[in-house]
Amino acid sequence: MTSIGPATSEPLTRRLVDTWAEQIESGFVLGDPSGPIETKLVADPVSEVTFRLRWLPHRALRTDTAALEREGLLNPHRDETVLYRDSRDPSGHHCFLCPANIRVCHPVEELVPVRAGGRNWLAGTNFAWLARNHFTVIAEEHVDQVFDRTVIEAMLDLHAQTDGSFRVVYNGAHAGATIPWHLHLHITTDAFPVEQLRPDRELDYPTPVRVFTGPESLGTKVADYVTDWEGRDPEHHRVNMLVASRNDRPLVFVFLRDTRFTRASKKGPMAGWEVAGDLVYSHRPDHFAAADLDAVRTAFAEIRPPAVDPKPPR
Ligand SMILES: [Zn+2]
Repeated sequence: MTSIGPATSEPLTRRLVDTWAEQIESGFVLGDPSGPIETKLVADPVSEVTFRLRWLPHRALRTDTAALEREGLLNPHRDETVLYRDSRDPSGHHCFLCPANIRVCHPVEELVPVRAGGRNWLAGTNFAWLARNHFTVIAEEHVDQVFDRTVIEAMLDLHAQTDGSFRVVYNGAHAGATIPWHLHLHITTDAFPVEQLRPDRELDYPTPVRVFTGPESLGTKVADYVTDWEGRDPEHHRVNMLVASRNDRPLVFVFLRDTRFTRASKKGPMAGWEVAGDLVYSHRPDHFAAADLDAVRTAFAEIRPPAVDPKPPR
């Protein structure tokens, strides 16, 4: 059975790291997260950030129902008639993030209860992992993936509750988030390349980013900035966000996105992982093999929101 453990006084970091290890042990992941990963490091002399390109072919299986059943990740005896479906989802799929659906579809998945930003969440091991200790943190309720003040407060709270060891990622609806009907975050202990970006060097990064530092008024500053960007074109403007730390102070990276420009021709989807400098390839080995600094720059240029002015000279 899917188990939702009781809230305990055990530190959240320990609970998550132990859960990740247990879920690997029980076979609830695709591929081998402890094995070597084919990786290319691409140094950008302009931003002085070294991008990380990785070949993660197990990701291609995450939508393959037969493969997931064969691997023991998806319950072959699930009762489809009891699964909740959002009527706005044109695919007709059940909501992959509703806890009640997870209990039916993924009986071996363990959900760790978390209280953050005034909301109840459940952290579940991402079986199509992108990093070590990669959890999808899902809102207990089926509510839309919409940015508001409570989202950044929950991200900062999660980061603080793990003593800064877990990075927290938010993808805007239709700008990286492929399930826009159920609010969710991602967390991992792996550092992102954009964390190398030196203060006041935002303009040298190849995709529009603003970096906010805390802790004073951090949530308010970020919320005001994101609300302004999304309000300028509510239909298309979204953000990706990353919460990390530097010198024990929280940092929030806000990446400006436009829902019309979320795929790069020789990369595919460009979501929160990608804009943070970690480019994941899972379908086209030829694109991964050919990827170099020019390819990375081209991918970022292709997703640049048209409303952002060209980079001014420094
Ligand atoms: Zn849902």
